[in-house]
Amino acid sequence: MIIKGFCHPPLSSERREAELDCSQTGQVTLRCGEHVIMASVAELQISPPLGALPASIGFADGWQFKAGLDYELAEWVRHNTIQPQRWVHRLERNWLAIVASVALVVVLGLSVYRYGIPAASHALTRLLPQAVPVYLGEHVLETLDEHMLSPSQLEAQEQWQIQDRFALLQDNLPPLPFELNIVFRSWPHGPNAFALSDGTVVVLDSLVEMATTPAELDSILLHEVGHVYHQHVMESVVQSALISVAAALIVGDSSGMADMLTSTGVFVASSGYSRDAEREADQFAAEQMLKNYGTTEPMAAMFNRFMEHYGDSELPEWLQSHPELEQRIQALK
Ligand SMILES: [Zn+2]
Repeated sequence: MIIKGFCHPPLSSERREAELDCSQTGQVTLRCGEHVIMASVAELQISPPLGALPASIGFADGWQFKAGLDYELAEWVRHNTIQPQRWVHRLERNWLAIVASVALVVVLGLSVYRYGIPAASHALTRLLPQAVPVYLGEHVLETLDEHMLSPSQLEAQEQWQIQDRFALLQDNLPPLPFELNIVFRSWPHGPNAFALSDGTVVVLDSLVEMATTPAELDSILLHEVGHVYHQHVMESVVQSALISVAAALIVGDSSGMADMLTSTGVFVASSGYSRDAEREADQFAAEQMLKNYGTTEPMAAMFNRFMEHYGDSELPEWLQSHPELEQRIQALK
């Protein structure tokens, strides 16, 4: 008897057409494309049909076969299994057990996503050799310069003044994983500043123009230094990578589903820092503002000005990142 169906390669949920040749007693042959696997029935892991789950045949090297028309395989399985595992059978028909295990899987999955992946990203980021964030930072700035940013229109003297003032401020900061490097660029879409993975802080001319005092500008730069201090850029890159790998592992490697989930995961993870990261950067900036200027007022003033400038919807990404701006201003106060 030849049973038509499909099979899964080892450790994959990919579905390939296959057929199972059971014409010889005590032996079966699985044919799946170029793969031909022969095995004696004794070596097989035979799972009888359970509720709505079809019968399946597991091979020693990890291949799995499931029949297209299930009754054929079910019939063969009935003839070839000695002791159906009754307790598994009962468990799989117990609704309470099913609901409980689904709930457990969901809770576990969410916990891994919420706590496991961030914790792993945090640890992995700190294991990376310095060359990685340095290379990435340089590469990103080159790309931005090529496609988005133009040279700063600020007077060289003004740039030096800010850099010098910041160099002094830096002496009062806790030790940072990278040397800070403040660079200036111009961009037509509103005031902003952002940190790169190698400790470079890109300051847009419009941000310098928006600040009415040095303390106001420094408060925003200190927020960016907070991202450098906590290595948020590398953490979110590592996190995107982990989510892609996890998605690929869960749904199998070569189906369209994997691609879809992977790109969604990457998109979600890479569209800005997390709420926690923004809060950490705010906290860092507020502490340093108190230490250096004795007040967080200039920072709140800048946040207010951002809100006036952008309205609610078009805030720059780092401001939009969740802890609503008003809450952040409240927290500062
Ligand atoms: Zn930020």
